Amino acid sequence: AVPLVVAINTSLAARNGMLVRDRIAMEEARNLDTIVFDKTGTLTKGEQGIVDIATTDGWNEDDVLTLMAAAEGDSEHMIATAIREEAHARGLSVPSTREFEALEGRGVRATVETDISVGTGESSAVQQGTTVYVGGPNLLRHLDIDPGDSLTAFADEAGSRGQGVVYLLRDDEAVGAVALADVIRDESREAIDALHEMGIEVAMLTGDSEDVARAVSEELGIDTYFAEVLPEDKDEKIVELQEQEQLVAMVGDGVNDAPALTRADVGIAIGSGTDVAVESADVVLVENDPRDVVSLVRLSRKSYRKMQ
Ligand code: ADP
Ligand code: MG
Repeated sequence: AVPLVVAINTSLAARNGMLVRDRIAMEEARNLDTIVFDKTGTLTKGEQGIVDIATTDGWNEDDVLTLMAAAEGDSEHMIATAIREEAHARGLSVPSTREFEALEGRGVRATVETDISVGTGESSAVQQGTTVYVGGPNLLRHLDIDPGDSLTAFADEAGSRGQGVVYLLRDDEAVGAVALADVIRDESREAIDALHEMGIEVAMLTGDSEDVARAVSEELGIDTYFAEVLPEDKDEKIVELQEQEQLVAMVGDGVNDAPALTRADVGIAIGSGTDVAVESADVVLVENDPRDVVSLVRLSRKSYRKMQ
């Protein structure tokens, strides 16, 4: 007899760059109401570049970068890479640190090993044993630190250009900041337009600032966004959507995204995703191309049409 259901052809899926880990989820993909995308590294290239540096009294740009690069020495975050590359490009010698700690979704902390003098001002503005932090708005909120008028003005201006800001903190005081620009993937716009044509709403979830999230959403025509979301709160946003009777997919690549991938009805790990993201996903997209999410829904609709 002719089968009523054309089961998902996993080798066909694989040929299209999709590794199906959960067939039930793949079947559900045909009925999705909303697809939530992680921003950084998924909709954007995640290759951040430093476009501006802000200093405060007694500090110059190189001092700020030197100390930031020191604190970020052991971080794998794309922001850390951008900071280290800029320090390297300027030929700065970066001091070593100890007790490095990554504060997921917020920034990093480390303790400097040597006294460091700061350009124009005091001879050793940073003494051995000083703890420094580098992080974004989420970190400032967490530590309850006000960056002061000049850095706030710098952040507002960067924000209006859709750029993110990370601060350098010494002794609970913000002494400098850098503005970072990311690049939206060309494929993102196409993917979002196609999903809209298929009647699917598109949302974006990010730990990045409100300003950056708004700029990216407007640029891409995203329906809803959640900004400044801490890693531990990402899955709650999925639940909020599910409580509105929606069938929800999450697309992400990071360790941060794992709980949201697990929580979503369809969890999709994308590209060079971390092992944790891959383990938490129902489907893994091999390439880092958001248009493959469109292909995934199309394949699901085609394969399971006869069940509807
Ligand atoms: P996303 O949710 O966009 O993938 P993350 O959760 O990795 O981003 O980070 C959220 C925010 O936390 C970043 O935009 C940045 O402000 C801050 N942050 C995280 N890691 C670092 C780091 N190593 N250095 C500086 N800032 C960081
Ligand atoms: Mg990410």
